[in-house]
Amino acid sequence: MLSTFTMKFQSQIAVIALLLCFFLSCGQLVTKQAGGSLNFLVVGDWGRKGLYNQSQVAYQMGRIAEDLDVDFIISTGDNFYEDGLTGVADPSFLQSFSQIYTAKSLQKPWYAVLGNHDYRGDVLAQLDPVLKEIDNRWHCQRSFTLKYNLCTLPSVSANDIECPSAAELYFVDTTPFVDKYWEIPNEDTYDWRGVTPRDIYLRRQLQDLEKALKISKATWKIVIGHHTLRSVGEHGDTEELVQQMLPILEEFKVDLYINGHDHCLEHIKSLTSPIQFLTSGGGSKAWRGMKKDADMNGVEMYYDGQGFMVMKITQKNLHAIFYDIEGNIIHELEMSKNHTNLWAKKSSN
Ligand SMILES: [Zn+2]
Repeated sequence: MLSTFTMKFQSQIAVIALLLCFFLSCGQLVTKQAGGSLNFLVVGDWGRKGLYNQSQVAYQMGRIAEDLDVDFIISTGDNFYEDGLTGVADPSFLQSFSQIYTAKSLQKPWYAVLGNHDYRGDVLAQLDPVLKEIDNRWHCQRSFTLKYNLCTLPSVSANDIECPSAAELYFVDTTPFVDKYWEIPNEDTYDWRGVTPRDIYLRRQLQDLEKALKISKATWKIVIGHHTLRSVGEHGDTEELVQQMLPILEEFKVDLYINGHDHCLEHIKSLTSPIQFLTSGGGSKAWRGMKKDADMNGVEMYYDGQGFMVMKITQKNLHAIFYDIEGNIIHELEMSKNHTNLWAKKSSN
């Protein structure tokens, strides 16, 4: 029998672990049934109270999402400009989010990561569950994973069968990787609560990602972060991520890396692996111009203006479509895999 002391000690450990998990926003895996296909929108770098054409992009998102019946919307970060939220009561949350993305078709879960501008405010505010009480669409965490089964719904009970085809989405907190934000003195102030000690935080994120990718049997593996890996936009490549994260994505054959940060739309293919780099950071202020002497290798599309991306995924096909502010299609990417995944009997072990 456990002594009272041991039990007390164990419960204290559990409470500490829970608290740690809360402050670190531990990655969680949520499995959902997509029923044969998965449709979602991706927008980034948007929160400007409707200005800089944010409202116009929101209108087009609403129109396209209605035709498509999207499952959710992804925000690639820099959710609130210039300096994130001042707290959970900051009216910017309503002025830049709830009162802008008002279309019925956009009343779906919004899965958001944090950008560097979000770290310049009260970073914990955007992660606070209180925001969900204000607008229940809002789901922002530092890092988390979503898994969607892609088999069509079975006609029999799903208890003893399983769907071997899935899309997995890994959301990564990229801001703490960037060295220049940590420099002292710094013209901007960053809220690093929950992220220090930095080296442990970064190592843990990479280890978690590697572990998840290693055991994944998903047909489609998609990693999402705020910062670029490859970009010819104003900020260019993020060297820290190219050094530390890209080798993991390549080793475990990730299909797509999706980001914001550069206020443009981009598709760049890797020259060394099948991974495709997609930028969707055109949610409001754009037209920043290209990076000087940018590496143009693999660039399939670069559009410097506002817009967003649509993603349609089935067991066999992945279709990404980029839209501009007028709702015109400016670029498409199609990928296919020769899978014939149907519901299968669960193995006995
Ligand atoms: Zn950014």
